[in-house]
Amino acid sequence: MQVKSFMFDMIRSELEDVVGVENVSTSEVDRASYTVDYFWLSRMWQDRGAEGPKPDIIVRPGSSEEVSKVLKIANYYKIPVHTWGGGSGSQGGALPMAGGILLDMKRMNKLISIDLNSHSITAEAGMIFQQLEWYANEKGYSCMHIPSCLTCGTIGGALGHRGIGIFSSKYGKIDDQCMSMEVVLPNGDIINTLPVPKHAAGPDLNQIFIGSEGTLGIITKATFRLFELPKYMKHHAFLFKSMKDGLAAGRDIMQKTQPSIMRLFDEAETISIIKKIIGFEKRGAFLNLSVDGPDERLVDIQMEIIKEICAKYDAEDMGSEYGEKWYENRITFFYPDHIMDIPQMFGTMDTVADFGHVEEIYWAMKNAIESNFPGVRFIAHCSHWYGWGTMIYDRFIMDNPPEDKEEALRLHNQIWNTGVRAAMEHGGVINDHHGIGLKLSRLMKEQYGPAFQVMEGLKKSLDPNGIMNPYKLGL
Ligand SMILES: Cc1cc2nc3c(=O)[nH]c(=O)nc-3n(C[C@H](O)[C@H](O)[C@H](O)COP(=O)(O)OP(=O)(O)OC[C@H]3O[C@@H](n4cnc5c(N)ncnc54)[C@H](O)[C@@H]3O)c2cc1C
Repeated sequence: MQVKSFMFDMIRSELEDVVGVENVSTSEVDRASYTVDYFWLSRMWQDRGAEGPKPDIIVRPGSSEEVSKVLKIANYYKIPVHTWGGGSGSQGGALPMAGGILLDMKRMNKLISIDLNSHSITAEAGMIFQQLEWYANEKGYSCMHIPSCLTCGTIGGALGHRGIGIFSSKYGKIDDQCMSMEVVLPNGDIINTLPVPKHAAGPDLNQIFIGSEGTLGIITKATFRLFELPKYMKHHAFLFKSMKDGLAAGRDIMQKTQPSIMRLFDEAETISIIKKIIGFEKRGAFLNLSVDGPDERLVDIQMEIIKEICAKYDAEDMGSEYGEKWYENRITFFYPDHIMDIPQMFGTMDTVADFGHVEEIYWAMKNAIESNFPGVRFIAHCSHWYGWGTMIYDRFIMDNPPEDKEEALRLHNQIWNTGVRAAMEHGGVINDHHGIGLKLSRLMKEQYGPAFQVMEGLKKSLDPNGIMNPYKLGL
């Protein structure tokens, strides 16, 4: 699409007719502001003075009908469409790599209904999740989707990347919490998934669009479960001699009890981040957890069982103090000076596996990265637990990456390929909750093998012109 051509002006005026002149922009400043999300490469490009991927035109729709009309125009002219929520994704998922239209969803931020009989809440997908949570809290409820990006990510972004919040081990991921959705298909049709999330009326449409990262359609509304705000919450901490013991204890805890939060830090994180933020001085694998519930007796009995399990694996009981400190500082971990930042090179690999493979994967990734890339550190914790396994929030950090941007990109991608392939070779899945985006797109076929044709088939049938978020999700 050639900026300033006669045809460009014609298309622009069609889009203005749909959403209003004030909701279309081609200004340099606006275009530049959509070139960076939380993906390290986009930030490195900006840091090195390179021009990032700019959209040609920014469109801010105010309703599902407007989204539908925009997609019909885009399909007719075969213009790429990139959906942008809060732009806080770490995978480059929203970056407008193919130019064209950038659809900023944040005008679509209305609460639609709260149903206290069914315990559900419905809102437009451009709403920042914190806002939805405030609406729920006013009624004494919570969505219990409390990610660290609560104040900067939208409903659509959380669904688009299949996100997760800190209380996930009890309350599930966004795909457990979402009951139904309205989606605008690439051809402009507005559809609804079935009104309840569990049924036997064929494959689950929710799970086709959740995690599809704007490649199959645009989520415009969503209904979520509501939970009563937890009345009692208790925190505790333990120190294990090894990750092996901590993982085995975590597995047993998930079998016998239901903590809402559980984090197991490897020794490298225990002696760095945990020490720095909560002042914990010992070596080993630090585990903090929280149990909540409507009745204190239920909380206490679970905590007793957890203590017995941890004792069985020879953990040192650190009492409630460090568990409480962790909880109070749960967001401090993301503040400047505590989180990695440019000029460092870093990435969160975010691998998920069953209990039978997870420890092997942790060591395989650590060894592959630290032995192949001198000067790169690998640190990790397990932050979201399932009945069958856990995820490894594994990060690599390099303090002095190359200044040259091509060299930096090459090294960044080599580290990712090495770490992710080590995970896949040992039975891991390449991502738990940050999504695929641009960062992992090239590895999707390796991950899926012949099964990937199912996704390609969906893409071809729903988006035959390939206009939706090109180059993402391996599609
Ligand atoms: C400090 C920090 C902490 C974070 N903590 C967490 C965490 O605890 N848990 C977690 O899961 N993630 C976390 N993230 C990652 C990120 O914030 C999440 O992935 C978030 O859900 C992205 O939401 P967004 O609205 O910013 O999406 P964007 O970055 O704008 O978009 C993400 C993807 O979703 C697509 N998309 C956006 N809106 C729609 C829509 N309406 N329909 C279809 N597709 C859409 C985009 O095209 C893109 O592919 C964190 C990020 C930061 C910077």
